[in-house]
Amino acid sequence: MQRLRATGIKYLKGVGPKRAELLEKELGIKTCADLLYHFPSHYVDRSRFYSIKSFSGDMPVVQVKGRFLSFNIQGEGAKTRLVGLFTDGTATMEVVWFKRIKWMRENYHVGGEYILFGKPSEFGGRWSMVHPEIDIADAAKFTPGLRGVYPLTEKLRNRGITSRTIFQIISTLIDKNIGGMSDPLPSALVRSLNLMSRAEALYVIHNPSDNAKLEKARLRLKFEELLYLQLNILSYSRKRASNSGGLRFTRVGSFFHAFYEKCLPFPLTDAQKRVIKEIRADMNTGRQMNRLLQGDVGSGKTLVALMCMLIAIDNGAQACIMAPTEILATQHFESLNSMAAAVGVNIKLLTGSTPRKQREIIHSQLADGSLHILIGTHAVIEDAVQFKNLGLVIIDEQHRFGVAQRARMWKKNSIPPHVLVMTATPIPRTLAMTVYGDLDVSVIDELPPGRKPVVTLMRYDEQRLDVYRSITRQLNQGRQVYIVYPLIKENEKVDLLSLEQGYAEICEVFRKYRVAYVHGKMKPSEKDAQMALFASHQADILVATTVIEVGVNVPNATTMIIENAERFGLSQLHQLRGRVGRGDGQSFCVLMTRRNIGKETRKRLEIMTSTSDGFVVAEADLKMRGPGDLEGTLQSGMPIDLHIANLATDGQIIAMARRAAESILDADSSLSASENQPLKRELAAVFNRVFDWSMIS
Ligand code: ADP
Ligand code: MG
Repeated sequence: MQRLRATGIKYLKGVGPKRAELLEKELGIKTCADLLYHFPSHYVDRSRFYSIKSFSGDMPVVQVKGRFLSFNIQGEGAKTRLVGLFTDGTATMEVVWFKRIKWMRENYHVGGEYILFGKPSEFGGRWSMVHPEIDIADAAKFTPGLRGVYPLTEKLRNRGITSRTIFQIISTLIDKNIGGMSDPLPSALVRSLNLMSRAEALYVIHNPSDNAKLEKARLRLKFEELLYLQLNILSYSRKRASNSGGLRFTRVGSFFHAFYEKCLPFPLTDAQKRVIKEIRADMNTGRQMNRLLQGDVGSGKTLVALMCMLIAIDNGAQACIMAPTEILATQHFESLNSMAAAVGVNIKLLTGSTPRKQREIIHSQLADGSLHILIGTHAVIEDAVQFKNLGLVIIDEQHRFGVAQRARMWKKNSIPPHVLVMTATPIPRTLAMTVYGDLDVSVIDELPPGRKPVVTLMRYDEQRLDVYRSITRQLNQGRQVYIVYPLIKENEKVDLLSLEQGYAEICEVFRKYRVAYVHGKMKPSEKDAQMALFASHQADILVATTVIEVGVNVPNATTMIIENAERFGLSQLHQLRGRVGRGDGQSFCVLMTRRNIGKETRKRLEIMTSTSDGFVVAEADLKMRGPGDLEGTLQSGMPIDLHIANLATDGQIIAMARRAAESILDADSSLSASENQPLKRELAAVFNRVFDWSMIS
């Protein structure tokens, strides 16, 4: 395999310099190894023939056997095409070629029997196939089994490269190389998990004889990828565990006790108690904590954060919370300050708009240790912000902070501070084991008592008057209402306009009520002023963009109207919905949409109306979008490209790979045993670097 990784594809039979260049440009295939790992996206059963008469709906790639009745050249110039009329005895369809017309005419004939592979499409009641693959239906040449369909691009097709071409190139490669190919996985592991060898799996994935074999090959190849991923992740976390000495918070002292006994605003939920215990234990191991605190919106993470910070303070350390937006930082500051000021904790807020004077006070209090807790935005990362003894960093809403920013906070103390990452975006287990695999996880899986699930409804634009009536009912009960509009960068001008029109309409319709208005383009001071109006119930309605998506906490608000809900992603909708249902009143979330929306979109909105469980929403989101689409660190967190494994759907194989990786490292932490040498070499090649396994012990 190492040799195949180092060999270009130019000299392969059927390739040559031109095609090599094209394959690299279109499919990213550079080396023979890349080619071998270019797998079919799906398969066609060679023993199954479809009849043209049975075509219907959205057809997959199918196989049809029959004869051409005629060939005609149609159109002129660039639109010239060859149209063959093809019948299998049940009906006829058109087969169309825009390219390589002459070659087609010379090689295929009216009356001969052929097998076509292609995707039928329907236009005006007639079926046709464009650029299908053709085989001569010669029984002697016909091998049963499954036939791979390789991903191609339009450009490749236009240059006459078909799925069949790719298959033939790969077949030569396989014939020449598969025989002597060794397996990088330790043979004991392969045996105990009853896996196929790599050579066999690579052969089968391109030439499956049946589905059972194919599944086994896929399992082996997925497992291998995921094992490398897990070994990589575990290498990091084990290295950290053994190497970086951490601050040791041995005691729970007077700040914590005073707060717990006198100032706790409500009894903690069992889940809150449990995670505080987990975090406390983790800060007392002598190792640096790197923990993810997951809890659905409204589960009470802020209070947990505070109590953990009090433990840090009790041990003579300082703490810091980073929030993704100024609004959120301010809100954290206000709620934490109101809870903790009574026990004498000194808390300050630092954002981009903190005046210089105040900034200087903060800097000096941080330096002399009299400032216990600093709350802020990205501003806290700046080098000018220096702590006397930073012991705990809490990052709220992880996905907006990159890993690199996290690492900058580590450097703010000679012994790296403990890190707690809080996220309300529930991270499905599979991702927690991969992208976040180096973090330990605590989960708040319980909402404070008395919360009623938010009733979520879908309403069409023509039902707007009904919706307004419901809003009025809530307002008359003294409740508050959010109305959210999309504001998407690419569409900013149009969106701002509809936001402004919406605001004007709301002011008009709800003349008797006070309406506040906030969007991301406003000056921070204006924004804060408007938010403050709503938070203090000097405004009844807040018309806003998604600036309120994260963290905003106004328990008296019981209704959330989301305009153009079809334009939001699932996790965004869930975040927005999390702004209501925070008090004891029954809350509502209304998804406003056009009647005419696509199937996928409707499915998305229906998930919202059918569940309020953030984990269910997140799993559905991952399945519908695929892990590649997830934003921010999720995406950049992947150290290798996965060819075949799918983080959304291969949870079981991920768990299997995780266990295998653990037991390999448990038995041979530095991968120095002779049976692990092929694996170690393979890892170095896959990740394109040499791991310093010796650091792990
Ligand atoms: P999130 O996890 O979304 O950050 P918050 O920390 O903002 O949630 O808490 C949501 C709301 O629940 C706040 O109003 C908070 O005061 C309240 N809360 C938190 N913990 C409890 C509890 N144990 N009992 C009752 N209410 C709680
Ligand atoms: Mg929060």
